[in-house]
Amino acid sequence: MAEKSCSSSGCSKESCEGCPSAGKPQSFLEELNVYSEVKHVIGVVSGKGGVGKSMATASLANLLASKGYRVGIMDADITGPSIPRMYGLEGPAMADDEGIYPVLTNNDIKVMSINLLMPDPETPVIWRGPVLANMVKQFWKDVIWGELDYLLVDMPPGTGDVPLTVFQSLPVDGIVIVTSPQDLVKMIVKKAYNMASAMNIPVLGMIENYSYLKCPDCGKEIPVFGKSKIDEVSQELGVAVLGKVPIDPKLTELSDAGAFDEAENPYLEGALAVLQLLSVKDK
Ligand code: ADP
Repeated sequence: MAEKSCSSSGCSKESCEGCPSAGKPQSFLEELNVYSEVKHVIGVVSGKGGVGKSMATASLANLLASKGYRVGIMDADITGPSIPRMYGLEGPAMADDEGIYPVLTNNDIKVMSINLLMPDPETPVIWRGPVLANMVKQFWKDVIWGELDYLLVDMPPGTGDVPLTVFQSLPVDGIVIVTSPQDLVKMIVKKAYNMASAMNIPVLGMIENYSYLKCPDCGKEIPVFGKSKIDEVSQELGVAVLGKVPIDPKLTELSDAGAFDEAENPYLEGALAVLQLLSVKDK
């Protein structure tokens, strides 16, 4: 039997001769659920855990929702999901023959997370990379997101199977990189940048978290985790700084109380503006 030479998805031809898609790169994009229409997909990434990626995702979601956009959060940090806990959401999510329904926060953000599908959110997810990656595809295909202006994807830290799957399978408009002053910022930003570039995904900018602590008495900004290098990295790599978030006990408090829908994060107004720009062309 002649070897199949066409790499285009769905093509059964044995030869590429005369085929208009010959030589074009194969698309791995997954179809969205028929009941959903998502205008913009934004990935929120970090180099390691604990830098505040979920806090940044949820803060951006809150800011967008407060401006009247229809927002969803896909919690793709499958082995360390924290979004449902931050908003005080409990599963199980409802499902029927059509698909799985996201759970709504008090400020009308639609959330899907493995923690909303497991009988006990404290059960650890002990799955290998390909299984985790498949779950993310299901979050895209089988979840009835409805109409969304923005779907924010809270990615697991690093550049493993799940981010790769999100970049390949979802029509990601751009990524936001979250770092802390302690991070090896340049290396982390470069890695995320190179990964996104290899997949033709724009880097919208960086957010520095834990930038400083404001003294409650004198208002002085104390750089608890050392001097920030983010502006240097921004200049060198040409990636914009979208915001610098201080250590704010209120954010931890609301997150721990499951009341993050009440969190305001004025330090991310710049990031909000960049995301809003994506919607300008929708009108
Ligand atoms: P990641 O998603 O990167 O693992 P999280 O967003 O879950 O990190 O943040 C880790 C913890 O730190 C959470 O309890 C969160 O509420 C808290 N936190 C994050 N950013 C801040 C901040 N700027 N000020 C105070 N607490 C924060």
